[in-house]
Amino acid sequence: MNALDGSPKRHWLPWIKRVVAESMKLLSPPAAECLLCGKTAVGFVQRPSWTSRAVAGLCGACSASVPWIAVIKCPICGRAETCGDCLRRTRTLFIWNRSAVRYDSFMKRMLALYKYRGHERLEPALIDMLSVAYELMMNEMRSPCGQIRSRGQHPWDCITYVPVSDARSAERGFNQAERLAAGLAVRYGLPLGSLLVRSKHGAKQSFKSRAQRIRDMQHVFEANEGAMAKLRLKSNKQVANGERKGGGLRLLLVDDIYTTGSTAEACARTLIGHLGADTAVYVLTWARS
Ligand SMILES: [Zn+2]
Ligand SMILES: [Zn+2]
Repeated sequence: MNALDGSPKRHWLPWIKRVVAESMKLLSPPAAECLLCGKTAVGFVQRPSWTSRAVAGLCGACSASVPWIAVIKCPICGRAETCGDCLRRTRTLFIWNRSAVRYDSFMKRMLALYKYRGHERLEPALIDMLSVAYELMMNEMRSPCGQIRSRGQHPWDCITYVPVSDARSAERGFNQAERLAAGLAVRYGLPLGSLLVRSKHGAKQSFKSRAQRIRDMQHVFEANEGAMAKLRLKSNKQVANGERKGGGLRLLLVDDIYTTGSTAEACARTLIGHLGADTAVYVLTWARS
């Protein structure tokens, strides 16, 4: 043995240490990072006290900052505050809107990350949040004083969504309302249908006044005749088989944000116009602006 290889132990030690450290890294999963703030989070357990739903991928602090709508003050638009908008209108074509959260600056940031910055990893979190509102809404509908009693196997004839124009869809790569509706349909085993198409897509809604929005929304949505025919056929079959009672169809329209209700109203007008006056359109949105 000469001086060069005199201490084989010390020569191998750093290498062994490195291998052990690398193996430990592989064996233990990487610490999860919050999808919103990026901070490392140990488990995602924070949840609103009135639901057992945790929001996937958000740390405790971010989850705790979610402005859930726990108490509804306006039975029509689902607002958590007393509502001037609904006092002003005499009736809506849709039955009601229910939203998961208030659209505050934190939620605006979350949606912008998903919609415009391509953070698609936020999608399960958004669907989780929408599910909270969906379950609350179903409880409301099933309650003894609810507007509609459960129809057993078929609570909805179809889940549909607010369409975007082809141009907007191409620009963004996806329709967020469609993704939310599809997520909900998968989670609860509900039938999904693209019942509407958008005929034109003007300037961004957010830059318009309330009156302008309502005016512009007329005639924006057209029927997807193929999907509507399929829905009618399915419904007729179910009635013939005794799987459900006759009467109007019950639809759930999904969108990301409810602002003035003009989009929901315009969609309901087209749906009811094509599927019959006894069609009941309920609206479920992720946020109430
Ligand atoms: Zn966070
Ligand atoms: Zn209202």
